[in-house]
Amino acid sequence: SKGSVGLQDLDNLAKMSFPLCMRHLFFNLRHDHHLKFGGRQQLGLFLKGIGLKLEDALSFWRSEFTMKMSVEKFDKEYAYSIRHNFGKEGKRVDYTPYSCMKIITSTPGVGDHHGCPYRHFSQENLRVVLEDQQLNPRAVEAVMDKVRNRHYQLACGTAFEAIHGCPSDGINHPNQYFEQSRRALQ
Ligand code: SF4
Repeated sequence: SKGSVGLQDLDNLAKMSFPLCMRHLFFNLRHDHHLKFGGRQQLGLFLKGIGLKLEDALSFWRSEFTMKMSVEKFDKEYAYSIRHNFGKEGKRVDYTPYSCMKIITSTPGVGDHHGCPYRHFSQENLRVVLEDQQLNPRAVEAVMDKVRNRHYQLACGTAFEAIHGCPSDGINHPNQYFEQSRRALQ
């Protein structure tokens, strides 16, 4: 069964165990104190999936967003959809975190940070990000090779192996990447 994740763990987990798609969203949120709707959904549901509880999720998003807006505005315009994703509003469906396929086939627009970096970043940007993750030149080339062949999930798996120094079981879901990473780093 899944453990719970506290607010104080998030930055470290993001650095160590988030796949690139979620890492990118997380650190953009930390930097800009905002994410557009697609990014809030993609990251928010992932965070729920790793075990962040509703109250902590609300504090997390509130603490970032209110660096740029009032608490009243946040509570009025943003808190609802967070509770909604936890099944506490509207139809009370407990929404499921997005799979790789859903993320890869999404179409981020200008100013959006959601999507899959292997699919949606320019090759140049992707290279920078991979080097930033301490991938050696040979591993970077192995990832880029898969990207050029449009095997985005295989590219993600290759990056996983280079980062963790052990094989992955294949990447189909960001939350599965996370679970595999936690096991590998134990
Ligand atoms: Fe995220 Fe999946 Fe893309 Fe990896 S392959 S970055 S887990 S969407």
